[in-house]
Amino acid sequence: MVTLHMPRIIVSCTATGAPVPTGHRTQDLDLASMIGTRSFRCPTCNAVHAWSAQDAHVEVGLPEAARDRAVA
Ligand SMILES: [Zn+2]
Repeated sequence: MVTLHMPRIIVSCTATGAPVPTGHRTQDLDLASMIGTRSFRCPTCNAVHAWSAQDAHVEVGLPEAARDRAVA
């Protein structure tokens, strides 16, 4: 069996507009049923951003080399 890397959940940085990973993946957070907001420390601007499901999207087609380096 091949282990699939589940796609990350991405939001746009409110300071720079860059797409940044929230630290969540589709396997641990279901955007369709997510209620309210969550916050995370942005790796782009180092501020804490709050976001809701409507701000987020799921990444597609990410190369293996660009995987999240901050997996706990
Ligand atoms: Zn940011």
